[in-house]
Amino acid sequence: MHYVSTRGTAPHLTFEEAMLTGLARDGGLYLPSEVPTLTPATIKAMAGKSYEEIAYTVMRPYIGETFTDAQFMDLITAAYAGFGHDARAPLVQMAPNHFLLELFHGPTLAFKDFAMQLIGQMFQASLSRSGERVTIVGATSGDTGSAAIEAFRGLDAVDVFILYPHGRVSEVQRRQMTTPTESNVHAIAVDGDFDTCQAAVKDMFNDFEFRDAVKLAGVNSINWGRVLAQVVYYFSSAVSLGAPDRPVSFTVPTGNFGDIFAGFIAKKMGLPIEKLVVATNQNDILHRALETGGYVTQGVQPSISPSMDIQVSSNFERALYFAYDCDGAAVAQQMEQLKSEGGFKISQGALEGLRAVYASGRVSEAQTSAMISRAFGEMGELLCPHSAIGVEVAQDHLGTTPMITLATAHPAKFPDAVTAASGEHPPLPARMDDLFDRDERVTRVANDLAAIQKIIKDGISA
Ligand SMILES: *Cc1c(COP(=O)(O)O)cnc(C)c1O
Repeated sequence: MHYVSTRGTAPHLTFEEAMLTGLARDGGLYLPSEVPTLTPATIKAMAGKSYEEIAYTVMRPYIGETFTDAQFMDLITAAYAGFGHDARAPLVQMAPNHFLLELFHGPTLAFKDFAMQLIGQMFQASLSRSGERVTIVGATSGDTGSAAIEAFRGLDAVDVFILYPHGRVSEVQRRQMTTPTESNVHAIAVDGDFDTCQAAVKDMFNDFEFRDAVKLAGVNSINWGRVLAQVVYYFSSAVSLGAPDRPVSFTVPTGNFGDIFAGFIAKKMGLPIEKLVVATNQNDILHRALETGGYVTQGVQPSISPSMDIQVSSNFERALYFAYDCDGAAVAQQMEQLKSEGGFKISQGALEGLRAVYASGRVSEAQTSAMISRAFGEMGELLCPHSAIGVEVAQDHLGTTPMITLATAHPAKFPDAVTAASGEHPPLPARMDDLFDRDERVTRVANDLAAIQKIIKDGISA
């Protein structure tokens, strides 16, 4: 197996190269040349296994020669050792046929830890073998950045620079990024929104001189290694509800489309998933695209679910690639149009392909708060705003197939919105209760690519 770009012209890479590179040189995203399938017997045998064992079975076919079997198992074990729950991703029943997959027991309390902790381990193993250094630059709407900083802090082969939109992340998210003391982590507050930050990162990857000078590496959700790590909990949760003998559906609070795309890969690998339901907040480009076929950007409207305040959903490009039968030229043409005209129309055939896999729903701010209040009052479950959006949309898709809604963050990561809606203040887990006493360290910068690049060049540890 090798890795190919969604735009069809970048060089083919190994797993290790694709993981270290992030964005392809033709502007596309890497995908495996073929998606391996697991037999029903292999999936069935996951029942009763540990999360780590399931992770090994699901991911091993993608890794190739990058790590030996034993080494890969060690990396997985190390990645999840710091989680606050033995099951790693426990499933909680909310209603007769509705389950909540709690993905917030990692060190920064959001599902991003599942991928980022493993990526940290894999980067370290790969770079210490080659003796190289890299500079990781990422954009975040809050959770990716804290997860990346947590995963890479103190690693000597890596500097990590995280761009976040100034004033638009929660205080817990900001402090998780600005309080680590290790000199290889750098938080950068950019005047703008998440899309501004993401565009700056893309521009840096497309500036080959800069990219090569600082040995740029990406760990945003465009990194294939991240998507891959997220495939695992689709298997672990579905198997615990009777897959492969019984199909399941998933509802996923969605922004950049990375998490739900991992569900699509699980389905392609042979997991019987009936529907993948995209849940969006008022920034609903994906919902509109699936309803109308028009993928048209509008301005971002800040919401109480900031990790989903996105109008350009990077990983949707991967979904399009499969919807267009792996035609990289067609994808490249649509992405050009997105850049020049702010939108494109999905062809009828591709749209039908997408609708066969994905359903969608959009949730207003008022509905989000109402669901937080209702879930706490009726089910005793304190939801973060993102998870509440998932639960709200899932209500419209309940049927005879068990529905699993992904709870993407811990309520304590968004205490203001949760307290306002439920009257209950969600406490931080004990291991973080000094977060508000630690000193902050951050560089504020205008939305100016050259200025951001200078901060990075000057900040590299040596
Ligand atoms: C990142 C994030 C999302 C959106 O996930 P995508 O993979 O970008 O679609 C949803 N909820 C929370 C809490 C997140 O951190």
